[in-house]
Amino acid sequence: MPEQARPGGILFDKDGTLFDYAKSWSAINLDAARLAAQGDSALGTTLLEMGGAHPETGLAAADCLLAAGNAAEIAAAWVAHGSSFTVAGLTGLLDELFCKAVSRMVPVTNLPALLTRLKARGVRIGIASSDSERAIADTVAHFGLPTLVDFIAGYDSGFGYKPEPGMFAAFCAACGIAPHEVAMVGDNLHDMEMGRRGGAGWRIGVLTGTGTPESLAGNSDLVIESIADLELALFADPSNG
Ligand SMILES: [Mg+2]
Repeated sequence: MPEQARPGGILFDKDGTLFDYAKSWSAINLDAARLAAQGDSALGTTLLEMGGAHPETGLAAADCLLAAGNAAEIAAAWVAHGSSFTVAGLTGLLDELFCKAVSRMVPVTNLPALLTRLKARGVRIGIASSDSERAIADTVAHFGLPTLVDFIAGYDSGFGYKPEPGMFAAFCAACGIAPHEVAMVGDNLHDMEMGRRGGAGWRIGVLTGTGTPESLAGNSDLVIESIADLELALFADPSNG
């Protein structure tokens, strides 16, 4: 981590980073499995367990398929494990479910306030998610962030999937900033790995998703409780930026 340097851009993961994963996604995971299993509760349990989520609570384990995968990856795995949809058909249904889930997202902190303060420091803001671009755009609109977010990329935006560095590189290009000027913030290893491959100046893990201090240690420069602590971590004195 460069000393004294301050980031010119911050690329955020969405789920588990801007939004509390357990509060937002546990129930949606249950809905997704129910949908894929079409009323077969034994199959639903199988799909949740193979996806890394508890079959009753929907809580997901660190870096599991449901926490880190995109709709196409989840659909492919679930069809292979017994869902009777086609992969393309189930991908479409999951994308639809996830888009409708926007209003169920629980922000980790006051997002407009945090992003407004970061913008006031001249920081460019991006969101890179394994969700679809439409779901990200709907989320940004729903939470009043359109004027605060400079860049979004989803798994279907054409920049590749995490942990490939494509979304990170696209953010740098879109904002005209060098990779070493960017802080990558996320709750999963694939976020930290995308930052590493992309050449991020800072890789910051947060504990509001499925990652743990153990799962993130060694693959991040710093692990903080949540993005509420981000300014303190990056700017030392948040009142004197
Ligand atoms: Mg995440």
